[in-house]
Amino acid sequence: MMIRKRICPRTFSDLLSMAFVLTIAPLMYWFGLFIVLPGLYGDRNPLYALHFTLGSFIMLNIVSNFTYTVMCDTSTGGRVVPVSTARPADGWWLCAACECLSPPRSWHCNVCDGCILKRDHHCVFTGCCVGYYNHRYFVMFLWYLFLGAAYAFFYGSLFIWSTQPFEFPSSIIKMVFPMATFFFGFDNSSDQFYLLLYVVSAVGTLYTGVLCAYHFSLILRGVVGNESNKKDFTYDMGWRDNIREVFGERWYLTWLLPYIKSRLPHDGVSWHHLCSKKD
Ligand SMILES: [Zn+2]
Ligand SMILES: [Zn+2]
Repeated sequence: MMIRKRICPRTFSDLLSMAFVLTIAPLMYWFGLFIVLPGLYGDRNPLYALHFTLGSFIMLNIVSNFTYTVMCDTSTGGRVVPVSTARPADGWWLCAACECLSPPRSWHCNVCDGCILKRDHHCVFTGCCVGYYNHRYFVMFLWYLFLGAAYAFFYGSLFIWSTQPFEFPSSIIKMVFPMATFFFGFDNSSDQFYLLLYVVSAVGTLYTGVLCAYHFSLILRGVVGNESNKKDFTYDMGWRDNIREVFGERWYLTWLLPYIKSRLPHDGVSWHHLCSKKD
């Protein structure tokens, strides 16, 4: 894996979004494993040990996949791009900003200031582009965020409604405006803070769930966001090979941890071989 040279977020919105994820994920971990589950089971119950292991596994995957996404350089910059073999017919194009020929499926990112191999999109939560070499880590980061949020939401529901009696209309107001209620001092009890985290877990489950469904459907169809919008399915090799294209040859193990090596079938540059194979 090539390491990205500048890993700090380059815009204010990237910085804010990154700070949000890096704050909320550990808070959810703490809420789930140190408040909700001991509240439901007690911390000496074997079930608690099981949940603690599962929750820690999810958190480890969130942190490590996030790190791999951010650290992995997926730009054309550090790689030897065989310009001599480039032909416009193969999809190579001249990037005016980089002042060089860029391979097919690459796309220039103004924030990252470079062309990104098989660029999917610029992710504000990781402050970098998602492309050929870090696509696997990004999707796994998203998947574990979804699992973590859904986990916190499910057990949070059992916990909140067993500890906080529902009162109309105050419970509704506290749930619709949890932040204002807590931070403006209307109710800054620990119960209201837990309710705030519970609402965040509900919104997080919905948001990351929709994103997961969108990104997995793109992967199965062998396209990135931009190609999907243009309905360009040139590189769709069938769902099995499309999965290998993102998760590598040992795709069935990549859900375990990002440290597991899974070689990608191509180099992110020479896409014309793939086209000719399909023809
Ligand atoms: Zn460029
Ligand atoms: Zn970018």
